[in-house]
Amino acid sequence: MKTIPYGHQCLDAADRKAVLKVLKSDWLTQGPTIKKFEEALCRYTGAKYAVAVSNGTAALHVACLAAGIKHGDEVITSPITFLASANCVVYCGGKVVFADIKDDTVNIDPREIKKKINQRTKAIIPVHFAGHPGDVEEIYKIARQHKLMVIEDACHALGAEYKVGGRWLKVGSCKHSDMAVLSFHPVKAITTGEGGAVLTNRKDLYEKLLVLRNHGMVRDASKGPWYYEMRAPGYNYRITDIQCALGLSQLKKLSRFISSRRKIARHYQKSFSRSPYLKVPIEQTKCKSAWHIYVLRLQLNRLRKTRRQIFEELRQKGIGVQVHYIPVHLQPFYQEKFGYRHGDFLKAEAYYDRALTIPLFPQLSSHQYKYIIECVLTTLQD
Ligand SMILES: *Cc1c(COP(=O)(O)O)cnc(C)c1O
Repeated sequence: MKTIPYGHQCLDAADRKAVLKVLKSDWLTQGPTIKKFEEALCRYTGAKYAVAVSNGTAALHVACLAAGIKHGDEVITSPITFLASANCVVYCGGKVVFADIKDDTVNIDPREIKKKINQRTKAIIPVHFAGHPGDVEEIYKIARQHKLMVIEDACHALGAEYKVGGRWLKVGSCKHSDMAVLSFHPVKAITTGEGGAVLTNRKDLYEKLLVLRNHGMVRDASKGPWYYEMRAPGYNYRITDIQCALGLSQLKKLSRFISSRRKIARHYQKSFSRSPYLKVPIEQTKCKSAWHIYVLRLQLNRLRKTRRQIFEELRQKGIGVQVHYIPVHLQPFYQEKFGYRHGDFLKAEAYYDRALTIPLFPQLSSHQYKYIIECVLTTLQD
């Protein structure tokens, strides 16, 4: 039996046709399709500028550099995220300062952020965990009071929305941040194979990001037709036109992808919310989650099995369960480099002990999700 993965890309003939068209063109990279994809991302999210790069991690790295993060600076982020949300700060020589999560949404707690701010703090990287928007308004307010940059790690949340003053805003609009970062890895909302982007409404940041993506090269026609110079080293973090053609084609289907995810999530919510053994994810009324992943929390005190047993039994039944994520402060590197220890972030650790991700992606069939629901409920009971 083939395992049902926790996430999977959704590609069709139109996607393949779009890629083929670029393969037959003059531009495989540094061509016009990149700009088109960036413009489409802006139209979708409402952000003014987009810079597409080679992956989400590169996007976080250039966003931190554009924000001016350097040696000795502190940046606050959540311990419940993928490694890259913290690693990007380390790349710049900065110190990663974690702030504990809120138990309900699993997103970083603004009150915990406040406690961690000092003279060295330069930025906050909130992560919209599982696709559920974080407390962006509150975080942005705190950031402005302390003159901090906000870089949203929106890698889970393309397609998510939140309501402010009766108006729905897309995550990525950067109405409550300086920049927002996306990933187009195959498990994310849309894919380019590998790929990422930084969104912003600030022209100064946009210009820095463009230079950082391309070796730090700045052209100056006034000094000659071939003249270029480098004031600070950049990177080759470029994305290809081939990838952007796929991205453009995928973006057209994003709304459909999100409604499929939402529909499956609703089935899960209905089936699992009554179980005494489970806590289901919440969706606040002021938010529309992008439902990147569906994370159940096991009520361990009511179960006769450990999470490990449940995990292994479900894997044996062909269900590609996962755990998102091991708290980043518990990683050996973060413990050794910054002195973090077990017990530092109790809510994050309690969440981690109970978390179990079950498959959720647009083309998961009703046959498959019904099988998953049945397997989860019976595995918990016997
Ligand atoms: C996927 C992801 C990233 C990194 O994206 P890549 O494109 O894989 O480099 C960063 N942060 C979060 C929260 C992610 O889920």
